[in-house]
Formats: sequence, C-alpha cells, structure tokens
Amino acid sequence: MKAALKAPQSISKWYNSCLQKVVHSLGTGARSRTIMIFLDKLDSTIADLPNFRKQQIYRAIFKSAYGSWDEVTSLPLGLRAQLSDTIPLAIDSKLIFSGDEKTVKALIRLDDSQYIETVLMKSNNKRNTICVSTQVGCPMKCAFCASAKSGFTRNLSMGEIVAQILLFSRFLKSDDAKVTNIVFMGIGEPLLNYENVIGAVRLLNQESTLNLSPRRFSISTSGILPGIERLAKEPGLEVNLAISLNAAIDKKRDSLMPVNKRYPLKRLSKALKKYFESTKRKIMIEYMLVKDTNTFKEDAVALRHFINDTEAAYVVNLIPMNDADCGFEALSKDEIFVFRDYLKRCKISFFQRAPFGEDIGAACGQLATKEHI
Ligand code: SF4
Repeated sequence: MKAALKAPQSISKWYNSCLQKVVHSLGTGARSRTIMIFLDKLDSTIADLPNFRKQQIYRAIFKSAYGSWDEVTSLPLGLRAQLSDTIPLAIDSKLIFSGDEKTVKALIRLDDSQYIETVLMKSNNKRNTICVSTQVGCPMKCAFCASAKSGFTRNLSMGEIVAQILLFSRFLKSDDAKVTNIVFMGIGEPLLNYENVIGAVRLLNQESTLNLSPRRFSISTSGILPGIERLAKEPGLEVNLAISLNAAIDKKRDSLMPVNKRYPLKRLSKALKKYFESTKRKIMIEYMLVKDTNTFKEDAVALRHFINDTEAAYVVNLIPMNDADCGFEALSKDEIFVFRDYLKRCKISFFQRAPFGEDIGAACGQLATKEHI
C-alpha cells in the first residue's frame, strides 16, 4: 500500500518534467500525447510500484496489446486513471490497406509532428512481418529509393521504434494473430541508429514483452561497416543481417548507392567475411533488379566474385523494382527470367521476393510519408 501511494508522485513528477520538455520542443498547438516517449522510460516511471503491478502493466502494454488503460480491468480504477494520465497508450496513426488486404501500411505521427511509415505483411503461413522504420527520412541517398528524397531529419527513439510494432500487435489481436517477424527495412539506415535499434530488439526479446527470439529480427544495412563490425560483437544477439547490395561492380554501386564511395565493395566483402567468421550466421544479399543498370551478365559474374570474396554462407534475395518515381525502370518478367538464368549459370543461390503493397506505396523503396493524418 505504501509503495502504491508513493508511486503516483514519482510517476507524475517524471511525467511532468517530460511533458514540459515535449511541449517546449513542440511549441503551441502540439496535440500528441502518445506512448512513444514513455516507452523509453517505462521502467523508471513505474519503479515504485510493487512487482506484481509492474508485471500487469507490462502484460497490458505488450502481451495483451491494449490501446487504452480502460480495457485493463485487472487494475484498480484509480491506478488506471493515473496510468491514463502518465503513460498514455495512444499511437497517432492511420492505416492504409492494399487491394488484396495482405499488406497494411501505417502512417504514424510522432510527438514532434514528424511522420514515419511502417508496413505489415501477412503471409498465408501465419507469418506476420513488420517492416519497421528507424529514422525520420534517410541520409543515405540511394538513387532508387523514395525515402531518400525527403532528406534526413533525425533518428527515432527506441520507444518510437517499439511503438510501430505495438501498433500492429493491436491490429493483429482482432484476428487472434501475432507479430512473428520484424525487419528493419523501412525508412532509414538502422546501423546509423544502432543503440535504439538494438535496444528495441533486446526489449522485445524479453519474456515480459513479446518474447520474440532475436532470430526473428532482420537488420538490413546499405553497408555501414562500423555498424556491421559492432553487430558481429554484440553479445547473445543472433539477429539476421541483410546487405542491400544491388550491384557488385563499384562504378555501378557508386551510382546507385553513394555509401559505396565511403565503403567500397572490397572493404564490404572483408567486413562480411569477418562477420561470418565470428557469427556463423547466413547473410542475406538483397538485390533490387533495375533495368539497364545491374542485370547484365557481367553483374551476375561480379556478384559471384563478391560472394566468393566474403566466403560466407549467403542467400541472394531478388527484389523486382517498384514504382518509386526515381527515374529507374523495372524489368519485365522475361528480362527477370534472363537475369535469373545468368545467376544460375554462376551457381548463385537466390529466391525472388513476392510482391507486396505496391498499390499503396508500401513496397521496397516506396516508403516516403507523402500523406499526412
Ligand atoms: S534504400 Fe534504405 S538506406 Fe537507402 S535511402 Fe532508402 S531507406 Fe535509406
């Protein structure tokens, strides 16, 4: 009883100082009070509550995926009222559905009125994958990507990353379904926001939250070598690594992905070799098929050499180009078939990603937060 009485004071003290900072940074007219800012400080906010109450709060947020404290009838009314005030569960968002309803895009407004997009991809085998954003905008300037067009604003906090997954946990709950996989392949370069991305993985791996094994997370990078090296040394975190390669000839990759000028292919293959030596985990090589650019016979041969240099277990993921209004064209089905044949002749193992969400601008390279709520 003593702790329960003490708790509201500490919650409200912390909350008030937080809110003042938020209101200050938002200026007048700010209206968001969402869960995002509170997720980063959840433990300290509820530190004075008894353990069983903390467990109930964690269960309500993560396992039961409630969107309002009013639904949490296991908690006393008074505490629910306090929690509504101190840890609001709201996420300011709008959902957009693809024609086949297998893809859902969420447009999310952050507490500083910036926007991000997150995508749910539902497969027939009950796999529900969330494609998560890690930054507002992206500094990497990949030529084929709509996210690069708006420039870079800031990194997302851990709470803003986790809130994207909570939003779809709540949505899937109505179908009695769960989030099964998380891919950091939305807007932003995840390895430039290393701490918050890894913090989100570690939080969602906890038994008290979604209890998702690290193997269910994939981090896709444009090739930030210091981040790859750091990930290789991350203790007890067996996440999957994907490299957005898209060309294995330096000149071509320079023009598609400016990061290649900083970290060219030779250095990238060396870093991947080291990563594989220390983790023994298969690396996914993502390859966007761009017409008249990276799908000639020489590209397949160069890819074979790149793979040989890495000496790693790998799988190549072919991604048909989506309409991102970037001046590049997609390959026809016949042209894709020809490139696949080049790969087969080079004895390269690959699979081709099934298309999803192109009609709602939710496919690879299309996320651009053009709409507002
Ligand atoms: S492909 Fe990824 S890393 Fe490149 S600009 Fe787009 S979001 Fe950034």
